[in-house]
Amino acid sequence: MESLRDKYEVVIGLEVHAQLKTKSKIFAPDGTEFGKEPNSETSPITLGMPGVLPVLNKEVVNMGILTGLALNCEIPERCKFDRKQYFYPDLPKGYQISQYDEPICVNGHIDIKGKRIGITRAHLEEDAGKLVHAGAAGLAGSSYSLVDLNRAGTPLLEIVSEPDMRSAEEARMYMEELRNIVRYIGVCDGNLEEGSMRCDANISIMPKGSKVFGTRAEIKNVNSFSALQRAIEYEIDRQIEIVEEGGEVVQETRLWDDNARETKSMRGKEDAHDYRYFPEPDLMPLQISREWVQEIKDRMPELPEAKRQRYMGLGLSEYDASVIVEQMGLALFFDEVLKLGVTPKIAVNFIMGEIAAYLKEEHIEIADTKLTPENLAELISLIEKNTISNNIGKQIIIDMMKTGEKASSIVEERGLSQITDESAIKKIVQKVVEANPQQVEAYKGGKTQLLGFFVGQVMKETKGRANPKAVNDLLKEILG
Ligand code: ADP
Ligand code: MG
Repeated sequence: MESLRDKYEVVIGLEVHAQLKTKSKIFAPDGTEFGKEPNSETSPITLGMPGVLPVLNKEVVNMGILTGLALNCEIPERCKFDRKQYFYPDLPKGYQISQYDEPICVNGHIDIKGKRIGITRAHLEEDAGKLVHAGAAGLAGSSYSLVDLNRAGTPLLEIVSEPDMRSAEEARMYMEELRNIVRYIGVCDGNLEEGSMRCDANISIMPKGSKVFGTRAEIKNVNSFSALQRAIEYEIDRQIEIVEEGGEVVQETRLWDDNARETKSMRGKEDAHDYRYFPEPDLMPLQISREWVQEIKDRMPELPEAKRQRYMGLGLSEYDASVIVEQMGLALFFDEVLKLGVTPKIAVNFIMGEIAAYLKEEHIEIADTKLTPENLAELISLIEKNTISNNIGKQIIIDMMKTGEKASSIVEERGLSQITDESAIKKIVQKVVEANPQQVEAYKGGKTQLLGFFVGQVMKETKGRANPKAVNDLLKEILG
């Protein structure tokens, strides 16, 4: 397969649905909170009762504009809503209110590692409800399904990319960056597993050098970044095999099964005309003034790429900067710590070292701990003033996260402050040297890497409290 892959170029475009984090739905006052009792967050509007009228939620538009600006889109002065007709039991009205030919955002792009990925458009629409298949809900042998309309009418922004991606990895990186952006601007949780962000991947292949795109298949049901990459890899090979055997790829929607690790045909792909789009008669076209756009622009927080660049400017490696930015809670915490004037590199070592490891182990976020930016800054200042060693700092940071106690009080309570008194350290150094004559001889015979062993022994004697520089200097002096 690997060599066959060299014959083809892969073309990928993604359609990403981001659930906007508004309190109420896009056209109805019902709440949007996840996990409520089925059908408790509904109203006659959501249920599609005759005679009701949709009322547009302004916050949805604000979030749509904000996202569009973050994706370098133009926000046209006018957009409108359209009805997209299809029948499905989770769609009581028999149509979905969406935007067809005049979306809220057009002509954007984001840059992924220097490569520009175009964003054709982003449009607002309402989500459908959810079918719960009774068998899956534990009612074994049941042949019916239940419908939960809590999600119906939840605002979505569908972000449609240009077919600009050329590999599964590129598609994954694009999706990750989109997730970062919507999370940093606060419009979406970006949780693929829970479905607050969903992705349909369109994939086609063509002979290398060709200018004519092949027929695409659309893959649905990918709910993690790694599944997205796997699904695309699988689909590329499936299409190559078809073409190599003289067949033709058909335009269709396929479902990814992450357990079986394969895509299965779900249905032929509808074309736009099948949906009988027409302008939504119950909603006026939306006029978006330039003042409104400016007002939203002024609220734009720092975007992930700018944050990465700023961190690199502080001396972080590209890798470290990316890892922190990927974990928004840590990045925002880091920013707070930086505001207190600490040395970035020391703060990063704590955040990416002990702190990140602890959070991962406990499956929690930094906000779930009792560590404050002020307390971390104080800990770092104790290290910089040589009151405690870096090692002691690493030992107490976990307790600080658990208890919220200040570093200085832990140090005082447990007598952890550094021994900087040279004569006190010298005594211990001498004791260690006397206790290890063989190592001393080896050291003097040229095995200078034994210095680390002596340092370790001194640290053991002092429970890590001796000033490391003083220990090193004294050892070199005494060992000659
Ligand atoms: P639809 O709304 O019917 O799914 P669109 O024209 O809006 O169709 O395209 C959907 C997505 O498919 C876009 O992200 C686009 O970039 C991508 N796409 C279009 N043509 C191809 C192709 N030949 N190969 C891969 N992706 C494609
Ligand atoms: Mg589509």
